[in-house]
Amino acid sequence: MTKDKELLGRLTVVSDVIRATVDFFHDEGFVQLLPVMLGKSTDPLGPDPGSSVIKTAEIEYLGEKLRLMNSMILHKQVALKRLSGKVWILSPNIRLEKGERKSTKKHLFEFTQADFEIPYAKKEDVMALMERFYKHLNGRIGKSEGFAALGIEPFRFKTPFKVYETHELEDKYGEDWEIPASKAHDQPFWALCHKREFYDKEDPSNPGHYLNYDLVYPLGYGEALSGGERESDYSRITERMGRDKLQMDIYSAYLKEAKIGFLPSAGAGFGIERLARFLTRGDHIGEVQLFRRIPGEKVSI
Ligand code: ASP
Ligand code: MG
Repeated sequence: MTKDKELLGRLTVVSDVIRATVDFFHDEGFVQLLPVMLGKSTDPLGPDPGSSVIKTAEIEYLGEKLRLMNSMILHKQVALKRLSGKVWILSPNIRLEKGERKSTKKHLFEFTQADFEIPYAKKEDVMALMERFYKHLNGRIGKSEGFAALGIEPFRFKTPFKVYETHELEDKYGEDWEIPASKAHDQPFWALCHKREFYDKEDPSNPGHYLNYDLVYPLGYGEALSGGERESDYSRITERMGRDKLQMDIYSAYLKEAKIGFLPSAGAGFGIERLARFLTRGDHIGEVQLFRRIPGEKVSI
């Protein structure tokens, strides 16, 4: 197969994934917001010992320091207050990963995620929604001409997906369980309970247990989605930010909104390029980008 034909096949799948995603969230009654790319604050992405984001990108505009979106999680919580309904965004994110992340084959320093949030939802609601999404993809993506161009059969998702607690995965596959566990599965699976950012809710009746989740693709492709029930209580938010040693003044506008009150919610985000890499069995995620943004590689244009 010529390189051009292969690229067109992969980008046709990306295009069909976008269309199927838009239709799905529309049919599920979500309001699609346009993305914001700059904010006073953004997702701190940690503290996470496994994180390799060098820094949050910043720009100065008319004397004000603004941050490029690591993710719109903080904006999603504010959006729910203003709209009181389900929202989603096709959200471009910048994450300045260390160059060595090129070798994971699943990291990009610029990518797009489908990022959604549902007021009053619990983790089970998000898991059920995503399983409906993958079933919807069976019907929609199967028809993509991209697969014929690549000469591969479309993957068929079989729901419900298996559910594990992260400690079970650690016991079985070791501390770095993600890729070995992914290789041992032939369908996506859920991994529940991750100690991470302040905005993911800790179970009030079981401290040290977190009401969040990842979805992991099988066959070695790794993480597909992250999300959680959210911390909406002001004092818990500030307590956890303090514990994470975050620079509080950056978050003053967010905290002002939190003090007035957030709606309880749950949500998640899944990477469009990661989904397209999985569906097209791409070796490296950069293969589904026309303008590659791979950590450690120079930007060509
Ligand atoms: N979008 C994710 C969430 O909703 C956060 C992330 O981008 O990591 O939790
Ligand atoms: Mg996160």
